[in-house]
Amino acid sequence: MKICELFQTKKTVCSFEIFPPKPTTPIQTVYETLDALKHLNPDYISVTYGAGGSQSKRTVEIAGLIKNKYGVEPLAHLTALYQTEQSVLDFASELKQNGIDNVLALRGDRAPDTKPAGVFHYANELVAFLKKHTDLNIVGAGYPEGHFESESIQKDIEHLAKKVDAGVSHINTQLFFDNADFYRFIERIRKAGIRVPVQAGIMPIIRKQQIDRIVSLSGAKIPAGLARIFAKFSDHPDALQSAGIAYATAQIVDLLSQDVDGIHLYIMNKPEVAKKIRENICTLF
Ligand code: FAD
Repeated sequence: MKICELFQTKKTVCSFEIFPPKPTTPIQTVYETLDALKHLNPDYISVTYGAGGSQSKRTVEIAGLIKNKYGVEPLAHLTALYQTEQSVLDFASELKQNGIDNVLALRGDRAPDTKPAGVFHYANELVAFLKKHTDLNIVGAGYPEGHFESESIQKDIEHLAKKVDAGVSHINTQLFFDNADFYRFIERIRKAGIRVPVQAGIMPIIRKQQIDRIVSLSGAKIPAGLARIFAKFSDHPDALQSAGIAYATAQIVDLLSQDVDGIHLYIMNKPEVAKKIRENICTLF
């Protein structure tokens, strides 16, 4: 099923994102995560793509498992910088062979020591190529605080509009911790004529190691209230987990009260966290 159809029938689309285990770790380790996630009835589960394509086989394999073993709709990520036209066609054909209809088309980040293939420079080019050569449903990434390379949020939104025009059916956003940034983003993209649904990306911060890593990778700013939580609880793992879940829950409650199109939970392969958040918000749908 193409997940764009979900936005026509559901008030709020709710999905989870997982990443493949390392190539040296047996694929079976992901079964436990998927077993638990399936019982939470997500509308779909997305699977990340290793930077530089190191784990592309695993992305397809896990997305195939999600569809064919667990009966949940998958969204497979794909990054463009290191692809040739043929490798994209091969990836698309593997998705189809596994019954997968949805792809998140990304540019990806430059790996420090590897030269990009020079075929796809930005995600909009990958979107246009996939649109022309496949019948996959294509999702795109959006950045409520602006992408870190962009000279301005306005310029970033112009590029996003180009990507959507090339064939994106809905947008999944980068994680953010201040809902005001998301609401401003929605206002700006609607003014720019972008009409597709937008799912808000929420990541509960539950471990000390996540704090610096996630912030530096995503560029998300930390509001004062969350900084106080980190200062107070970062050396108390149980307390940090409870506080991180409570903070993410509060963000989601606020987003639901504003009739957001969807919530995409970055759960870092921790189904117990997804379960607690689901329980906290189950009466709100
Ligand atoms: P683009 O849309 O191409 O934008 C990148 C930058 O270029 C922006 O600054 C934009 O303003 C600018 N730009 C865009 N188009 C043009 C143009 N035509 N001309 C000039 N400038 C332009 N990374 C992974 O490696 N694997 C994953 O699985 C993964 N999943 C992600 C999921 C989500 C929901 C998000 C938000 C990000 C994910 N990322 C992933 C990270 C992503 O690869 C990086 O953020 C990357 O730097 C940008 O990818 P993009 O598709 O948004 O790029």
